[in-house]
Amino acid sequence: MTLPSPRDELAALERYHSPQLDVTVRLNTNESPFPPPAGFVDAWLDALREVPLHRYPDREALRLRSALAERLGQPPTRVFPANGSNEVLQTLLLAYGGAGRRALVFEPTYALHAHIARITGTTVVEGERRDDFLVSTSEARRLIAVERPAVTFLCSPNNPTGMVEARESIQALLAEVVDHGEGLLVVDEAYGEFAGWSATELVADDVPLVVVRTYSKVWSMAALRLGFAVAPAPVVEQLDRVVLPYHLAVPTQLAGVEALAFDTEMRARVDALVAERHRLSTALSRLPGLTVYPSGANFVLVRVDGDGHALWQRLVDRNVLVRDFSHVPRLEGCLRITVGTMAEDDQLLVALRDCLEDAA
Ligand code: PMP
Repeated sequence: MTLPSPRDELAALERYHSPQLDVTVRLNTNESPFPPPAGFVDAWLDALREVPLHRYPDREALRLRSALAERLGQPPTRVFPANGSNEVLQTLLLAYGGAGRRALVFEPTYALHAHIARITGTTVVEGERRDDFLVSTSEARRLIAVERPAVTFLCSPNNPTGMVEARESIQALLAEVVDHGEGLLVVDEAYGEFAGWSATELVADDVPLVVVRTYSKVWSMAALRLGFAVAPAPVVEQLDRVVLPYHLAVPTQLAGVEALAFDTEMRARVDALVAERHRLSTALSRLPGLTVYPSGANFVLVRVDGDGHALWQRLVDRNVLVRDFSHVPRLEGCLRITVGTMAEDDQLLVALRDCLEDAA
């Protein structure tokens, strides 16, 4: 018996690969090192107990959209929530990508932009970042003019390199997209809370800009899978047409609303993580044979003088998991380290020092 083959364009596609290993220090997926506040968990579970579980969730997730909109200073018609920002990205590509259309990315960047584009049959055009890993606005404008992408992705702060794009860069790209009268600029702000500014303030109904954010990082809710887009109302209408009905489960919708009451706690966490990132970066930069890149996110990229993958494995052997990017073009020898608790980061630093000494 032969089983049917999947679509031809999936043949070259690799599965998303980020090992989930059983180690004591997990600094590989940029989650928050802190569980959500206890008060949030209680409020969420109390609200959940009142829910008629035999009924479908609110298809429009109206309470969540309104609560988010109020917080963002945008109307609810400009908010589209989904199961993690990955589902937001997929819905955007289902609506605006597809056969005969192009998505522009600037490498090295978040691999899922190109990955989901390919799954949806969208042709991927790869631009290159500058040596400092920021996007060159002149190169970006040239590519937008030549390639006329249906979707241009800009990740800021960029994963895995960590830098935040300036408002002027985003405005310059947006101007180019507007000039060509087609396409969307999608700014992925999964780490936006750590940056000094947010492109959400530029979103309006007549501007082809979509900003994507997540509850997985600062909001400590990676397990619940919630992300959202802030987009022109006509774009949100298209996303609502494409996404599966009742896609957002009640526990997720409720968590999204309840979490917003804990804004003060979340801001304190951002401050704590930024301070800890500074401490970690400084300690890393004192280790021999490591180059530390500046970061505006909750992770730090380092480049190892030598075999990055071997170092990654030696860290795993010492119960510390970071993310190995050493196989990625232009990131040879690079590891990405999520900012953890002080105790976790100290364990990492000790293990790293041992590994580097062993290798010397
Ligand atoms: N965008 C970027 C840049 C990310 O780093 C991530 C998570 N690694 C996501 C989107 C997806 O996050 P989630 O689906 O958990 O919201």
